Amino acid sequence: MQSDIKFLAGVGPKKAAVFNSELEIFTTEDLLWYLPFRYVDRSSFQKISEIEADTTVQLKGKITRFILEGQKFKERLIGIFTDGDRTMELIWFKSASFIRRTLVADKEYIVFGKATVFNGKINIVHPEIDIFEETASQEASMQAVYSISEKMKKAFITSKMLNKLQRTALEQVKSTITETFPPYIIEQQKLIPFFEALQNIHFPKNTEMLKKAQFRLKFDELFYTQLRILKQKRKQKRTFKGYIFGKVGYYFNTFYNNSLQFELTNAQKRVIKEIRYDLGSGKHTNRLLQGDVGSGKTLVALMIILLAIDNGFQAAFMAPTEILANQHFETLTSFLKNIDLNIKLLTGSTKTKERKLIHAQLESGELHILVGTHALIEDKVQFKNLGLAIIDEQHRFGVAQRAKLWGKNENPPHVLVMTATPIPRTLSMTLYGDLDISVIDELPPGRKLVKTIHSFDSQRLRVFKFMRDEIAKGRQIYVVYPLIQESEKFDYKDLTDGYESITRAFPPPEYLVSIVHGQMKTEEKNRSMELFTSGQAHILVSTTVIEVGVNVPNASIMIIESAEKFGLSQLHQLRGRVGRGAEQSYCILMTSYKLSKNAKKRIEIMVQSNDGFKIAEEDLKLRGPGDIEGTQQSGVAFDFKIANIAQDGAIIQLCSDLINEILDEDVELKSEKNTILLSEFEKRKRVKLNWRIIS
Ligand code: ADP
Ligand code: MG
Repeated sequence: MQSDIKFLAGVGPKKAAVFNSELEIFTTEDLLWYLPFRYVDRSSFQKISEIEADTTVQLKGKITRFILEGQKFKERLIGIFTDGDRTMELIWFKSASFIRRTLVADKEYIVFGKATVFNGKINIVHPEIDIFEETASQEASMQAVYSISEKMKKAFITSKMLNKLQRTALEQVKSTITETFPPYIIEQQKLIPFFEALQNIHFPKNTEMLKKAQFRLKFDELFYTQLRILKQKRKQKRTFKGYIFGKVGYYFNTFYNNSLQFELTNAQKRVIKEIRYDLGSGKHTNRLLQGDVGSGKTLVALMIILLAIDNGFQAAFMAPTEILANQHFETLTSFLKNIDLNIKLLTGSTKTKERKLIHAQLESGELHILVGTHALIEDKVQFKNLGLAIIDEQHRFGVAQRAKLWGKNENPPHVLVMTATPIPRTLSMTLYGDLDISVIDELPPGRKLVKTIHSFDSQRLRVFKFMRDEIAKGRQIYVVYPLIQESEKFDYKDLTDGYESITRAFPPPEYLVSIVHGQMKTEEKNRSMELFTSGQAHILVSTTVIEVGVNVPNASIMIIESAEKFGLSQLHQLRGRVGRGAEQSYCILMTSYKLSKNAKKRIEIMVQSNDGFKIAEEDLKLRGPGDIEGTQQSGVAFDFKIANIAQDGAIIQLCSDLINEILDEDVELKSEKNTILLSEFEKRKRVKLNWRIIS
């Protein structure tokens, strides 16, 4: 398995170099894990008469003659192909003489490719061609197809060559290959042997065997990924002592009894209980608090902060943007207005004098709560006794930043990560298998669901009228433009153009339109925000800076321009900015007529559903896990060869349950029956996962 790929018969140093650089294939084992991306059935064929344009077809027949057209170097080779019934053209623009030499007239071929219509005639350009062999086609009715990059093509590495190499590789490892699971798991889970799985993934005997092979290899990948995460989690729980927040004291009780204006939802109560249990257990808490926008996470965070203070600790509350940090600071301050606690805000724009004061008060312990942005994890910021760190909207923070927060006290502070972007369960199991999860799955009472409407750009006048009517009722409106980093200037132009057209439609002095975007100075930004939050401005035109957390209950309409450019979770986040007050709220998704299939689907989902978890699942299906926010930063290797997090939830669950059972009994995997598990585990531990303790 571990021998260098260049020694495999048929490879050699030149091709090996391409394998190395293009596919990171260095060993025979790597090659065997280079899996086909599809299979073609080499036993069933279409008739030329049945061909539909722009579909992929497989035909059997003969080339009766060749025609060479065009001038030298611009020539085109045409093969007249017949299936015995009708004829069509196969066309080559390149390698004409090579093709002409290798293909023989009147020999039986299998032709595979995309049928296109040109000048009213059906043809296939650059088809794949195989010699038809009666026996071979019966034996391997499914032939593996491997993806081939341009560089591979240039090095003459074809899919067909990969078929051959895989055959050789399988031969080579056959006698020495070792099983990756102990017998008891193989039996229990009805897995086919590892070698058989590899064999059938490259050369399926039939569809049933292919399925078994796929299951076996998916199980393999997911099991060892989960094992790593779950083992780490247990280790972490053993290694780190957690500060014990044993008592519920003055601050918590006073707030709960005197300051809280409303009844907590059942979900909030349950979640607070879960977290309190954690914090009293002596173990270190590393918990993810999930809850849809507006579900009341901030309040939960505050109550946990009070618990920390009751037990003699300081708390930090970190937000991803200055706007959000400001807002959290204000929310917390107003919640705490009748309670004598010292709470301060630290951001990039905090003045030096204030900053110095904050540093001093943190070190002396006078400061109870510090709210801020990244600024609060700078080295200069030293706490006397940091016991709790709340991190809002975790996906905006990189791993390294969280690691820094981790080192702010002797033992790491308890960490509560809050996110409004629900993470599908399967994904959170792999991504955050080491985090405990609490879910607020209920909105405070009296909320009306936001109505979502899809509107085309051409209907803008109607939208303007609707806006005027709502403003007349005293409502406020967000208008959001996409911001794509690569073309910031261009987007900025969209935004300013939009702002101008809206100001024209809503002119002063009757209307006040304010604007916020990333290129404004902080003070300017704050002033604009303030105009809107205070209710003076009727409309806030902005980029996605308002995406997370901004809370203006009187704003009841969210208009999203070029909605097709946003991802689902982002659209859902934006929609969550409205529907925070008692009035019926609306979200209007503006798009052009031309929409990609995917974009259309996203808009449909948004119009149909208000359920963040459902939207997250759909998002995962549409985009695949690699693109979901947070996965890049998470550092978990998502380069699964065959497993698919969006589709293989059941297998992930199966593996997790099984692993937990195994670890309950044998956490170090030291018992004899788990020898194979331990050695495979060690073998696959290529990437260091130390930082995971703080994810
Ligand atoms: P999230 O951070 O989860 O998006 P917030 O904590 O900002 O949600 O809460 C949204 C709004 O709902 C805030 O104005 C908050 O004061 C209010 N709120 C929170 N919990 C409740 C509750 N149990 N009943 C009524 N209103 C609540
Ligand atoms: Mg929030």
